[in-house]
Amino acid sequence: MTRLFIDGQFRAADKVEPVVEAATGHLLGQGSSATESELDDAVTAARTALDGWRSASPDERADVLNRFAAALKERTASTSELCTRENGMPIALSRGVNGSFPAALLHYYAEMAADSDVEEIRPSMIGHTIVRREPVGVVGAITPWNYPQALAVMKIAPALAAGCTMVLKAAPETALDALILGEAAAEAGLPPGVLNIAPGGAAAGAFLVQHPGVDKVAFTGSTVAGRLIGEVCGKLMRPVTLELGGKSAAIVLDDADLDVTMRGLKNASFVNNGQTCHLSSRILAPRSRYDEVVDAVAALAEGLSVGDPLEESTDVGPLVSSRQRDRVLDYVRIGESEGAKLVVGGSIPEDQPRGWFVSPTVFANVENSARIAQEEIFGPVVTVIAYDTDTEAVDLANDSEFGLGGSVWSSDTDRAINVARAVRTGTIGVNEYQLDIQAPFGGVKASGIGRELGPEGLAAYQTLKSIYCLRPTD
Ligand code: NAD
Repeated sequence: MTRLFIDGQFRAADKVEPVVEAATGHLLGQGSSATESELDDAVTAARTALDGWRSASPDERADVLNRFAAALKERTASTSELCTRENGMPIALSRGVNGSFPAALLHYYAEMAADSDVEEIRPSMIGHTIVRREPVGVVGAITPWNYPQALAVMKIAPALAAGCTMVLKAAPETALDALILGEAAAEAGLPPGVLNIAPGGAAAGAFLVQHPGVDKVAFTGSTVAGRLIGEVCGKLMRPVTLELGGKSAAIVLDDADLDVTMRGLKNASFVNNGQTCHLSSRILAPRSRYDEVVDAVAALAEGLSVGDPLEESTDVGPLVSSRQRDRVLDYVRIGESEGAKLVVGGSIPEDQPRGWFVSPTVFANVENSARIAQEEIFGPVVTVIAYDTDTEAVDLANDSEFGLGGSVWSSDTDRAINVARAVRTGTIGVNEYQLDIQAPFGGVKASGIGRELGPEGLAAYQTLKSIYCLRPTD
């Protein structure tokens, strides 16, 4: 069995770690636990491939990336099913984010790189300056398990389109699906070493971050790990993109249509079983309609279908691991001990004794300063917090260590957009929350540094060089 993809070849890993099915606890397979020497090999392969790949024309790179996308598309069904087994994501969602989205990303960046000039000429005092966009070099990419294919390809597509090469250290929980990227890359004819895949744990990630052969680090994961990585990159003066955690607010304005709002919050506040960085997990409700909002959110949570994530109709599947389930149940106890009112959920559903399920959970009478309102729970748990004025709602939304996502719900779009403008986050939705491939995604404050998606996502893998040219004298 092959568990690493290095220099265009699959190879057995020296150390392995079991990958377990979230819904059943059964063994799915053995993933790699990449060792330092395997990561050395991966970085060496990426460095060796760099000159050839960055000197290929953007059109040549685009052709390969488009073939890579086609090879991923052919695997959509098997990839999305495997991801669902690994992390519990409902299959309908997995088909989109792990199936079609990665291929769309590869096409998008292939086209962007092929269509954009890498050199721009600007007049200067002495003649002209050539401003060049050059690939930053070898990228060490580290991804979590919650949206494994999407988050990996949000790095792979712009990096490779820019002419960088990469070592991807995927999370151990989703070590198996990561190798599908290697299969598709090889089938597409991606030159050996351009993309290397070495799943492993935190120690492997830390080793990659400080590796002398890495020019840039691209990380998605927790704020705790992001801070450690940021420190190392700061010391090394190594460019780094950090996509971290969140505790986003859904501001329900007093004119909101609650039917429309609840249909939207089903996605914004419960997507992927709550294992989503931009989750609108703090629902801010006008005091004048507080009970009505709490009842509506409770009805929404109770109406979600919880069960087998491979079933088409399932809204909420299991959490990724017993560790994650225990963490979420701990937060339920913390919420109760803080005096919040548990309205629905808060336990393991009786009909789901296997796997790592937690019922969709709603807390009311929550203070914004409570731990369940400030800390990222990463499960299907929402808090409903009262406010009196729009200004107070914005203040509460901003009263958070994080600043990644959020949403505003209102019958008056202009009013909602004005509220959205005042919230300090990298992204925010109006009457829906949906990422846009063409717009930068990322956070402020403890939610990170840098952006992915859109042209800004490509720029994150380019470095700028100015060549000052003296005007020739005749
Ligand atoms: P995590 O930080 O524990 O792990 C994420 C990845 O980093 C894994 O591959 C892990 O092995 C690796 N890692 C852990 N410690 C490391 C270290 N010190 N050095 C290098 N690598 C290290 O996060 P998690 O619990 O697996 O994932 C959930 C977190 O990811 C949540 O906080 C979530 O909000 C965040 N996330 C953010 C985004 C975003 O775009 N902002 C997207 C998805 C998830």
